[in-house]
Amino acid sequence: MFDWLVVGAGFAGCVLAERLATQRGERVLIVDRRPHIGGNAYDRYNEDGLLIHEYGPHIFHTNSDMVLSYLSQFTTWRDYTHRVLAEVDGQRVPIPINRTTVNRLYGLSLGTDEEMEAWLAARAEPAERIETSEDVVVSKVGRELYEKFFRGYTRKQWGLDPSELDKSVTARVPTRTDTDDRYFADKHQVMPEHGYTRMFQAMVAHPNITVMVQADYRDIRHLIPHRRVIYSGQIDEFFDFRFGRLPYRSLRFDHVTLDTPRHQNVAVVNYPQTEDFTRVTEYKYLTGQEHAKTAITYEYPTADGDPYYPVPRPENQERYGLYEALARATPDVWFVGRLATYRYYNMDQVVGQALATFRRIDEKLPREDRA
Ligand code: FAD
Ligand code: UDP
Repeated sequence: MFDWLVVGAGFAGCVLAERLATQRGERVLIVDRRPHIGGNAYDRYNEDGLLIHEYGPHIFHTNSDMVLSYLSQFTTWRDYTHRVLAEVDGQRVPIPINRTTVNRLYGLSLGTDEEMEAWLAARAEPAERIETSEDVVVSKVGRELYEKFFRGYTRKQWGLDPSELDKSVTARVPTRTDTDDRYFADKHQVMPEHGYTRMFQAMVAHPNITVMVQADYRDIRHLIPHRRVIYSGQIDEFFDFRFGRLPYRSLRFDHVTLDTPRHQNVAVVNYPQTEDFTRVTEYKYLTGQEHAKTAITYEYPTADGDPYYPVPRPENQERYGLYEALARATPDVWFVGRLATYRYYNMDQVVGQALATFRRIDEKLPREDRA
């Protein structure tokens, strides 16, 4: 008899399994329908010995000392500051849009934050209410830069116009008046030194934790005795799509090895105007690996496939609310993670959410003596 059946071996599932096993001494079975642990953060060495991210580039960044220190029990880190270029009007320029971006695209020499602010203010279209992913960008940089950097990319990535998506989507990418060309502004920007999969292996390496991959919760739930469930799969699937499907956007990853040490001069290049793929990632920048060859990945957005992104729109949030109410009324099951709480969360946010869930569980359920 397991105390816990944990569904999903991604960040949400592995953090909770680790906490329950080590802090409460409980017996945990983790199941994942995929053939590996790590969820979407899973990485592996390809046929040429290059470390790649199976489900697209995962860059760790956080402002939380607590989340970083928790994960530091399971990995050492390498410093890595993420930078991205966007191919716009035939040039590769920094995204997030900053002063360098504007100077290069328009042949200007804006020298100060104030000059850049004035340049943007002359183009921005102030909106009374900022609701959509179009409003949030157009109100800051105006329509022309919005069209060049955001409209096409977003339509490709989501199959929706930015005007049909909640503002939180494009608000992930800031606008800068200085020349800071980092993609993220977080206090901590690091990568697990030996990769994510090694970190996950260390998290679940505990005698109270058993891992079973290629096992679907729906197939094994009645076969394996357990008292409680941590569920990190799709919440709509858990309830047999009773209120209809929650939309998730998917991707197809085209992993390629090139017989050259370097392919592009930055880790990620975005293609907002051309191509069917959204971005190209070269992993050596993220991993620091030295190798005669290089591995890259093209990301092609798709409607069908593995659920990668919840789609932030009011009607989806409303439908999620119906499922959330059911979840609250379901005893002995805790819903956690990007799919089970239908939130466009980064890795550090999922870790934070899982640690908070553990604290709630630990307050609610008395610890039993296990001599
Ligand atoms: P997941 O990693 O999705 O894990 C859920 C697991 O549950 C899956 O392995 C699935 O197989 C399993 N599962 C589902 N249903 C069942 C079932 N019925 N039975 C058994 N198993 C089941 N975050 C960052 O912080 N930085 C980044 O740079 C970044 N880049 C990203 C790039 C892409 C392309 C994507 C898609 C996401 C990115 N993220 C990034 C987000 C990050 O992947 C997530 O925040 C994190 O992996 C979510 O962890 P999770 O445990 O909630 O879900
Ligand atoms: N985005 C865009 N152009 C870009 C980069 C981002 O339009 O060059 C928009 C797009 O809608 C994207 C969102 O901003 O989905 C969030 O970007 P982020 O890089 O955070 O996406 P993720 O890495 O989560 O796929």
